[in-house]
Amino acid sequence: MDCIFCKIIRGEVPCRKVCETAHALVFMDIAGDVDGHMLAVPKKHCKNLLDCDEESLHGLMDTVKQVSHQCIERGYDGVNLLHASGESAGQSVPHFHIHIIPRKEGDGIDAWPKFGGAKFEIDRIWKDLTE
Ligand code: AMP
Ligand code: ZN
Repeated sequence: MDCIFCKIIRGEVPCRKVCETAHALVFMDIAGDVDGHMLAVPKKHCKNLLDCDEESLHGLMDTVKQVSHQCIERGYDGVNLLHASGESAGQSVPHFHIHIIPRKEGDGIDAWPKFGGAKFEIDRIWKDLTE
């Protein structure tokens, strides 16, 4: 399959491997946008959260937790997890991935999106989401 992350998983494209488990691989993101930027991907191809099978999803999240603990053991205080399912959400690579950003107190990283304020009254959207 002509998928960059599948090629990384198969070893056809090099990566800086951080962790490998039965169901997932974690490697350094090459964006160079923030220190410690990693990507966790399921080994079995799926586009995103919406079509990921349960076994892959559980394996991926277990691996994300393992790497998060690894960050703490190596002197970080916490992590941010970022994910986009779908192009409208900002997904650019169509193989499920979770961005992991290790954090340290006072590191100056602003990993939370600037949303710019809600356009509609909260109850209207609540009804759209639930009724
Ligand atoms: P997203 O925009 O959430 O789909 O994120 C895709 C991410 O994949 C970006 O942060 C890219 O820097 C990263 N990326 C693309 N190709 C590679 C690659 N060959 N190795 C590591 N990271 C990659
Ligand atoms: Zn793939």
